[in-house]
Amino acid sequence: MSTMHILLRHRDIPDLYRLPVYQAHRGYEGLRQAHQMAPATVRDVVTRSGLRGRGGAGFPTGRKWSFLDYQAPVRYFVVNIDEAEPGTFKDRELAEHNPHQIIEGALIGAYAIEAPAAFIFVRGELLTAYEVLVRARDEARSAGLIGPSTAEVYIYRSAGAYICGEETALLESLEGKRGHPRIKPPFPAQSGLYNQPTVVNNAETVANLPPILSNGADWYRQWGTEASPGIKIFSLSGRVMRPGNYELPLSTPLRTLIEDYGGGVGPGRHVKAVIPGGSSVPLLPAEQLDVLLDYESLQEAGSMLGSGGVVVLDDQVCIVRAAARLMKFYRTESCGKCTPCREGTYWMADILDRIERGEGTSRDFDLLPDIADNVGGKCLCPLGDASLPFMLSAMRHFREEFVAHIDRHRCPLAG
Ligand code: NAD
Repeated sequence: MSTMHILLRHRDIPDLYRLPVYQAHRGYEGLRQAHQMAPATVRDVVTRSGLRGRGGAGFPTGRKWSFLDYQAPVRYFVVNIDEAEPGTFKDRELAEHNPHQIIEGALIGAYAIEAPAAFIFVRGELLTAYEVLVRARDEARSAGLIGPSTAEVYIYRSAGAYICGEETALLESLEGKRGHPRIKPPFPAQSGLYNQPTVVNNAETVANLPPILSNGADWYRQWGTEASPGIKIFSLSGRVMRPGNYELPLSTPLRTLIEDYGGGVGPGRHVKAVIPGGSSVPLLPAEQLDVLLDYESLQEAGSMLGSGGVVVLDDQVCIVRAAARLMKFYRTESCGKCTPCREGTYWMADILDRIERGEGTSRDFDLLPDIADNVGGKCLCPLGDASLPFMLSAMRHFREEFVAHIDRHRCPLAG
């Protein structure tokens, strides 16, 4: 099945990362259109497009831009490519293969909020993405697309830490400090980089700006729903025949993504559960495969669209093992600043591991929600909260599998 490519255009256009090729395919046309409008008009176009943040929270982009103090002496535009959410690999593909669309989007965003500089923050491990972006930025500067009349574009490679994708930890890191989250409020819109009003937008969000400016807000609204308009890249992984990134209209059924695009699970297997939006959201059991992939439908179904990382678990997957594995990730990535997150993820990982090994007790099963209760809502940033939804939803939907590990002292799927 073919997919549409507004963001993943490099799939259809060879060498799109090169400036002449990008320009030959309407590249920098969105920026040209933006420059013919007043910055406030550009903000209005983006607001009317209904574009929402693609990093995970889905916050309306135009509204975020509207929070800035336009009387302040300076504002900054920051692009977040610290992509590290398990199951999410869309920004990486964009940056490695279609870097000019991100740079053009950053220039449009900086122009719209009247910022003298745009900072592109790249996850440390994404070395190729960083190098491709730097080369593309230098090409754009040599061609006069970045110059005295535009914002300067700085590209920063982080040291590599999940927490630096959290916007305030990202800003700390960008300022050269340890990547620890700040207390919100104030939000970056009020006090961000160097304490100035700052927009932090995800790379996919930013890559949507050139086509929106080139084609208009109504064009973008032809896809999706009234509240979730446009297109989205879904990173499909786990037990599917054709994993990868798929660019689809919002509100595409989850089943279509998995079965038609992803080729379904292997022969003789069936879907057990799906994580629809990166590892920080509740799982959906197989009965909910007909849910639509948009912000509202997934919320109604008890989960979230999140970053669009769709991870498929089939009947061979041990749900306790999956929960233990993910909790180890959060334990490792906790920055340690808030005690509930630092200690809570440690203890939950330990207990899940114990249950998975067949050494857990029924008391352990009750202890997990108790610890979760002492983590949720009690930390500065969402990392502690993010460690909970998968585990709690797994315990709710697959309680018997946890109980079987405890009663039989081994994994029931181990044969
Ligand atoms: P959030 O809901 O706190 O904020 C969303 C955005 O809106 C932020 O930029 C915030 O500054 C802004 N905002 C919200 N209320 C505001 C207000 N009153 N005034 C001004 N600005 C306001 O969520 P978040 O912490 O930015 O992101 C959490 C999400 O990140 C999770 O849902 C998860 O899915 C996702 N995530 C993604 C990755 C990844 O690699 N893509 C990694 C980890 C987490």
